[in-house]
Amino acid sequence: MNKRLTTFLSVLAVLVLLPLSPSNAASQTGGICSKAGKTKVISGKTFKCIKSGKKLSWILTPSISKVTPEAPKIVETWWRAMLDSRSFSQVPTVIQSIDIKSAPNVPKSETDKIAAHFNDTLIYWSQFVVNPQPLYTTIVSEKDYEWYMKRWQELGSDNTGQYWWDKTGNGEGGAVGWNNSGQINMYFKVLTTRPSTLATREHVFHEVTHFFQATALKDEVNNTPCWFGEGQAQFIQSAHADKSETVAKSIAIQNRKWAISAVNKYIGTTNSVDGLFNALTNISRGDVLCNRTEPLLGYTLGQLVNEKLVADFTWIKVIDFMKKSPENGWQASFNSTFGISAEDWYKKDLIPYLIAELKI
Ligand SMILES: [Zn+2]
Repeated sequence: MNKRLTTFLSVLAVLVLLPLSPSNAASQTGGICSKAGKTKVISGKTFKCIKSGKKLSWILTPSISKVTPEAPKIVETWWRAMLDSRSFSQVPTVIQSIDIKSAPNVPKSETDKIAAHFNDTLIYWSQFVVNPQPLYTTIVSEKDYEWYMKRWQELGSDNTGQYWWDKTGNGEGGAVGWNNSGQINMYFKVLTTRPSTLATREHVFHEVTHFFQATALKDEVNNTPCWFGEGQAQFIQSAHADKSETVAKSIAIQNRKWAISAVNKYIGTTNSVDGLFNALTNISRGDVLCNRTEPLLGYTLGQLVNEKLVADFTWIKVIDFMKKSPENGWQASFNSTFGISAEDWYKKDLIPYLIAELKI
């Protein structure tokens, strides 16, 4: 038996053996009472009238009532992190302004749906950071190529343009582009043939997150690792997928399943600890494996990294980390905000977590 436990037990024994306030308790316990169930308090002790056989007598009730332990609520690390990011709901004093323009062939219903979701996302993010410039948002359809290219030039020929138009192909898509003067533009492409799957709260949260990442990190956003940008957008998209916690959690579970299976497919070909460390440190934001082809590590591995980051350090600290990054770079900011270098955190905390999650 260890020493602390022995001491505890002996203290308990002394307490139990202490006489119960001799003047009252001794005379009251066992004394005759008139009605079963009645109680009385003497010197802070509660006595209850108990019937035993034919006899009614005062019995000292235990001062410490029995506590039935509640079944522990299972809150997974990732959902705890998502709840943390959801828990901010102050109405900010300044709300990010927005400038939405739709191309001539975009169905009005699609513009309305996207615009409606903007409201919540802008209020949410404005609690943390606001860009003095409006969020320039452009909605186009597959029939608006020329209109789009003209609007893109007006917005300063950012890094979307022809590249993004081709990337979306015959489908829909969302993008955030930066022009040379640092202006951030947002684009949605919807189809005239069917309702957009992007005109959801989930996807608007994702795209708007990129706008605020660039607002907080400024140019440093381009130096961040593969896991940061898309990973955080996926994390926020899942956490805020619906106003209802239950619905958001079920969407988040689906998004995580996809993430876990994609990372597993990729890591399965390599030694997992080394493979993960390599993916975290050596795959850049511009790498095709990060955001163009499977396993889309920025989105998949990135979501898991961001949930652990928030779980370990809290969402508000992650915001601090973002805002401090332009000063001396994201790595210095990581160090000073979280008190550990990114590489040490990967090795000590993140990789063991990822290995456990990927085994599910
Ligand atoms: Zn994205």
